Amino acid sequence: MAPFAHARVDLDAITSNARLLRELAGGTPLMGVVKADGYGHGMLPAAHALVAGGATWLGTAFIKEGLELRRAGVTVPVLSWIVPPGEPVGEAIEAGIDLGVSHRAVLDEAVAEARRLGRVARVQLKADTGLHRGGVDRADWESVVAAAARAEEEGLLKVSGVWSHFACADEPGHPSIRAQLDVFHEALEVAEKAGLAPEVRHIANSAALLTLPEARFDLVRGGIASYGLCPIPDYDVPGLRPAMTLEAKVALTKRAPEGSGVSYGHRYFTRGETTLALVPLGYADGVPRAATNKGPVLLGGRRRTIAGTVCMDQFVVDVGNAPVEAGEHAVLFGDPSECPAVPTAEEWAEILDTIPYEIVTRVGARVPREYT
Ligand code: PLP
Repeated sequence: MAPFAHARVDLDAITSNARLLRELAGGTPLMGVVKADGYGHGMLPAAHALVAGGATWLGTAFIKEGLELRRAGVTVPVLSWIVPPGEPVGEAIEAGIDLGVSHRAVLDEAVAEARRLGRVARVQLKADTGLHRGGVDRADWESVVAAAARAEEEGLLKVSGVWSHFACADEPGHPSIRAQLDVFHEALEVAEKAGLAPEVRHIANSAALLTLPEARFDLVRGGIASYGLCPIPDYDVPGLRPAMTLEAKVALTKRAPEGSGVSYGHRYFTRGETTLALVPLGYADGVPRAATNKGPVLLGGRRRTIAGTVCMDQFVVDVGNAPVEAGEHAVLFGDPSECPAVPTAEEWAEILDTIPYEIVTRVGARVPREYT
C-alpha cells in the first residue's frame, strides 16, 4: 500500500451522475458501465452507486467482471461484451449474464452450452457498424441473425439485445456518426425481418448520450460520464460531478540551493533556494512518467507543477518558499467544485495528450480507494 496516498471516491457523485444522465437522455434506461474496476473507482461500490441512481443495466468488458457482480449479489441485467471464441460461457449463462456476440463461433458455443445445461442463453448480437473493432461484420450479419433466430425457435437462446458502438461520438458532427447510425438501422431491420424482438437496442456511449438524441434507442451506455468526466473536450455538462480525487500527504520536505538538479536525470533545476516536497505517488500508482515537469498538483494552497522525473513511487514539487511541511495534502486531480484550484482528470489528460479514461483507470491497485 502506498503510504499516505489514496483515491477518494465520492459514491454520491456517481449516484447523482447516473440520475443526471438519465435526465439528459430523456429518461432512456441507463446501463452503468463498470468494466476495468469501475474505471478505477472500484467496480462493486460503483455498481451499487449507479443502481442507486437509477441504472437498470450494468456493462462489463469481460465475463469475469460480470460474474464478480453476480457473486456480490447484483441482480440487475448485466452485459459482458468481450467474449472471444473458445471462452467458457456456461457459468455466465447460469448466472443470467447477457453475452456480447461479435462472432458466429461464439453464438454456436453459447447454443451448445445452453443445450448441455438445459438453459436459455441470453445473447446480445453486436453489429460492426463502422468501428472495425468488435461486432459481427456487415457481410456476416444476415447469417448470424438467421442462426440466432433458429436457436431462439429451439428455445436455446434469447436474443436480448442488438447493439453497436461508435468510433467518433466524442467528435460531435463527425460524418462517421451518421454513417454508423444508418448501418445500425439496417442491422436492426435485418433482425426484425428474421423475427427477432430484442429487449434492448443500443449504440450510445457517454458522448452520444450527451449529444445525440437519435442514438438513444432503448438504452444508453454511460461509462466515463457516470464517473463525472466528460468525453468531449471543452464540452461542459453542468451538474456532472467528478467522483475521484487522487491525493497524497507530503512525505518529506527539504531545502535545496539554487541550481540543484532534481530527481532522476536532473530534468529540473531549482531557480533559487527553495523547498522541495516529496509526494509519495509514482508511475507504479498510475501517475504517468510522461507527467515529468508537466503534471499539475495543488499543494500549499496553489497550483504547481511536478518538478523533474516522475519516479516509480514518488515525485517532487518545488514549492518555493511556501511554508509546506510533511503531512500536507497534495491533490493531483479531483472535483473543482470542492476547491476551484483543484486540477481535473480532464486537464491531466489534455496536458499528457491522452483521455481522462486513462488517467482514472490507471490509478494503481496499491492506492487505496476511500469511499465517502
Ligand atoms: N460501450 C462499450 C462497448 C465500451 O467499450 C465502452 C467504453 O469504452 C462504453 C460503452 C462506455 O463508453 P464511455 O465511457 O465513453 O461512456
